[in-house]
Amino acid sequence: GDFPIDLDTVVVGAGPGGYVAAIRAAQLGQKVAIIEKGALGGVCLNVGCIPSKALIAAGHRYETAKHSEDMGIKADNVTVDFSKVQAWKDSVVKKLTGGVGSLLKGNKVEIITGEAYFVDGNSMRVINEDSAQTYTFKNAIVATGSTPIEIPGFKFSKRVINSTGALALTEIPKKLVVIGGGYIGMELGTAYANFGTEVTVVEAGDEILAGFEKSMSTVVKKELKKKGNVEIFTKSFAKGVEETETGVTVKFETNGEMKSIEADYVLVTVGRRPNTQELGLEQAGVKLTDRGLVEIDKQCRTSVSNIFAIGDIVAGPPLAHKASYEAKIAAEVISGEPAEIDYLAIPAVCFTDPELASVGYFKKEAEDKGIAVTVAKFPFAANGRALSLNATEGFVQLVCRKEDGLIIGAQVAGAGASDIISELGLAIEAGMTAEDIAHTIHAHPTLGEISMEAAEVAIGSPIHTM
Ligand code: FAD
Repeated sequence: GDFPIDLDTVVVGAGPGGYVAAIRAAQLGQKVAIIEKGALGGVCLNVGCIPSKALIAAGHRYETAKHSEDMGIKADNVTVDFSKVQAWKDSVVKKLTGGVGSLLKGNKVEIITGEAYFVDGNSMRVINEDSAQTYTFKNAIVATGSTPIEIPGFKFSKRVINSTGALALTEIPKKLVVIGGGYIGMELGTAYANFGTEVTVVEAGDEILAGFEKSMSTVVKKELKKKGNVEIFTKSFAKGVEETETGVTVKFETNGEMKSIEADYVLVTVGRRPNTQELGLEQAGVKLTDRGLVEIDKQCRTSVSNIFAIGDIVAGPPLAHKASYEAKIAAEVISGEPAEIDYLAIPAVCFTDPELASVGYFKKEAEDKGIAVTVAKFPFAANGRALSLNATEGFVQLVCRKEDGLIIGAQVAGAGASDIISELGLAIEAGMTAEDIAHTIHAHPTLGEISMEAAEVAIGSPIHTM
């Protein structure tokens, strides 16, 4: 046995949950160590949010360079050097992960490389290539994130890829099959479609992007149809794949009929599972749910009072900003502050063409909770900025409590939805009514005015609609 090293607060995992928790705990005076077996920044910075958005942005540049004829622009021979695209994407990732390293060091957080395993409620082993070390701790924050799910018959390989593989392709595929039309599959599928790939989506449910309202996914479907190189099969089931030297043949069932298509790669994006196995959590006495999530209370505390859990391993939407939010709560609680989770307004964004975003309640969710609501909608097509950007598809929609106009939900489908949603999330957090947004002067001409006009619709006095 080795001599155990005593630590104060230990964080396991350096994703947007773990690294934020470590920094905040250090800011609040804790002596903090963070243990990471892979790369600083976790999934989000290395193989998730950031590289996907970089590829999506590059795909847009290419696509709009080729297709701006409506605006009188005709470009011949626009080409992509995909290895440069990848190198650029990697440089973005590197800048950010390097930044996380500097922030941790700047806050005097000790970075320990290796895989952590709980021995009991006060100690863990950390194993790396050349050593194994036991650490004791006063408090632990577990932020080990999630991993892509594999489905039967689709074992990950060179050509049966998950999101990580899709982000690292060295050439633009001619044909790509995407299994699972959730936000990750649709974002990556759209990015490659913009680079010219023929994309086939196979989705088991009735609709793609089931996390959003049908009125929203319809806007995306319409745009994908316009691209001409994306085909979507819903109520369809992936059955198996044969891999060859140069590609795959994917079998799926649609309308009771078996279909088979050839492609360069098949991308499986059917969900992610929490990394709560092989971590010794049960040895520490930490309770998991049936789905393998860690049970926590409103302070991110697990069933063991000095062990906290945050991010993709706990219930709720598996999103980076939710992980970082919980991280600050856990760090503050450990430092003796009376912090508590309030999930009132977690925005969810899908970076497709156009973008979708939602915060707070959908109409149906509110009604299911017995809240009487009015829904007010304003289209992009009636906004000057949207017209001048040639981005006229979509709408902003406000879900207001009927009795007093309190904004309890908002949805945006359209260009810039990922930014437009921030104001609406703030409105919910601040307890604002539609009238408050309607009376806020919004700069002209901006997409933000669409939110103001939706608010005017909500209070019954719109200027730019009949
Ligand atoms: P992670 O980021 O998964 O980090 C966990 C870390 O823990 C990893 O670095 C792992 O190596 C480490 N670890 C695990 N086990 C151990 C152990 N035993 N010992 C030591 N270290 C360990 N979210 C958004 O909000 N917006 C987006 O646009 C978005 N896009 C995405 C795109 C893709 C393709 C994917 C896959 C995900 C995307 N997400 C997005 C989701 C987002 O990445 C996750 O919600 C987020 O990374 C979760 O953060 P986390 O800190 O819980 O875990």
